[in-house]
Amino acid sequence: MYKNCDFIQNINDELWLTEKEGENLTLSYRLKEIIYEENSPIQHILIVDSYDFGRMLVLDGIVQTTEKDGFVYNEMICHIPLSLHPNAKNVLIIGGGDCGVLKELSKYPSLNEIHMVEIDKSVVEASLKYLKGVSGGKIDKKVTLFFEDGIKFIQDKKGYYDVIIIDSSDPLGQAEALFEKDFYKSVYEALKPDGIMSCQSESPIYYSDVLKNSYDSIKELFPLVKLYSATIPTYPGSFWTFTIGSKKYNTVARDDFSLDTKYVNKNIINTCFNNAEFIENLINS
Ligand code: SAM
Repeated sequence: MYKNCDFIQNINDELWLTEKEGENLTLSYRLKEIIYEENSPIQHILIVDSYDFGRMLVLDGIVQTTEKDGFVYNEMICHIPLSLHPNAKNVLIIGGGDCGVLKELSKYPSLNEIHMVEIDKSVVEASLKYLKGVSGGKIDKKVTLFFEDGIKFIQDKKGYYDVIIIDSSDPLGQAEALFEKDFYKSVYEALKPDGIMSCQSESPIYYSDVLKNSYDSIKELFPLVKLYSATIPTYPGSFWTFTIGSKKYNTVARDDFSLDTKYVNKNIINTCFNNAEFIENLINS
């Protein structure tokens, strides 16, 4: 067992991280070394270097992002809503402590203001210092960071943001309410009359109940709702979804997408809302 956690084990001189995905599933990664560990007032923070996925951010034993596949998630949750909005100026990230979404947003010179509200300052500090492959190691001048609960932060923001990106951990503990209808309602109210939100909506295979609840709640609030997916190997089931709630825009505004990205391109943007039959059946049931 490593210092403060039972999910790191030394087995025959090999260091292993074992992530518990649920009652009946674990996923283990062989590690080169532990880079950083902290018990913040909010959660246990770990940055490790793994053989197969490079550096990884692990919060309370759950892998959040890695140097090897984090770009898929960060690009998809960011560039799809930004492609739908023709003239986004003010953007808010809720959560996002690894700073990977901030790095993607810094690719838009047209943005005026980028806010990020993250409950745990230590995650941001550790990611900027030890997880540069994801965070980029620095923050754009347009960014203002708020270290508080995103649920409270959003309650008094009315009609301010063009795009809100909910980059939360899984629905446990302090992140649980970030998947509930009351919270999505506050997000709706914090958006301008033509605003767009995106959020991660978990695995359609492993957490289809979370996906369905989240999708249905957003559908009850927003006139337009869209689901899209991507393959992210370090998330349970590998197959991950994102949901968009839009007040006005339904079709892609930036058909000329040419940002410096590794996953999202014009073809992905134009086809990502084509979902597999079982997903269509799930969200339309
Ligand atoms: N991409 C990752 C994933 O899907 O697992 C998550 C990225 S990011 C590390 C998630 C962040 O959400 C964490 O840093 C966590 O501290 C933050 N968070 C959780 N609950 C929050 C809340 N209520 N308000 C603001 N931030 C929150």
